[in-house]
Amino acid sequence: MVNNREQALEDIHAQVRACTQCQLHVGRTRAVPGDGPVNATLMFIGEAPGFHEDQQGIPFVGAAGRFLNELLQKAGIDRGTVYITNVIKCRPPGNRDPLIEEVNVCTPFLDQQIKIISPQVIVTLGRHSMNRAFPDEKISIVHGQPRKVNDRVYFPMYHPAAALHQPSLRSTVEADFDRLRALLDGKLTPEDFTPPPEVEQLSLF
Ligand code: URA
Repeated sequence: MVNNREQALEDIHAQVRACTQCQLHVGRTRAVPGDGPVNATLMFIGEAPGFHEDQQGIPFVGAAGRFLNELLQKAGIDRGTVYITNVIKCRPPGNRDPLIEEVNVCTPFLDQQIKIISPQVIVTLGRHSMNRAFPDEKISIVHGQPRKVNDRVYFPMYHPAAALHQPSLRSTVEADFDRLRALLDGKLTPEDFTPPPEVEQLSLF
């Protein structure tokens, strides 16, 4: 029996699959709306689908996804219990950075997903994902530090792909996952963070 929240999330997924609001729909094989249960308390937000995600329509199934799976497993987090999505739902050509207009048209889908799922903790993977919550911050400074904004905890992390390209980041990402585990276990407390006024206006996820 599908409940209202499941239906609402499925409706968003269907809208994403049918979306033609930006040019990325022209080159996509599949849109990648998101994956995971509507009652997830933990949500991961990456940047944009890559080659394998575009082929399968599922987020984080390529090399970065395998590393994410490894990190989740080590932290004792079952991937089947978390919701995973991206800021951008269609693959940018050649995996280039998303354009601001692509982010702008895609963001309402992400806002809706967060509203429906209402996770307790949102892990932002990489700079683009973090920027939405903390636009003026540097990931090299804030990674691994949970911050509470409007009753939701944000946990910025480096993108797993960054650790694959830059092996020295691997231990940093692993240490941040240990901190995420501590946060989930109530052993690490988030700091209160007041976003600058222009960010508050964005409804912050
Ligand atoms: N990188 C991302 O940011 N998202 C994916 O889904 C895969 C790789």
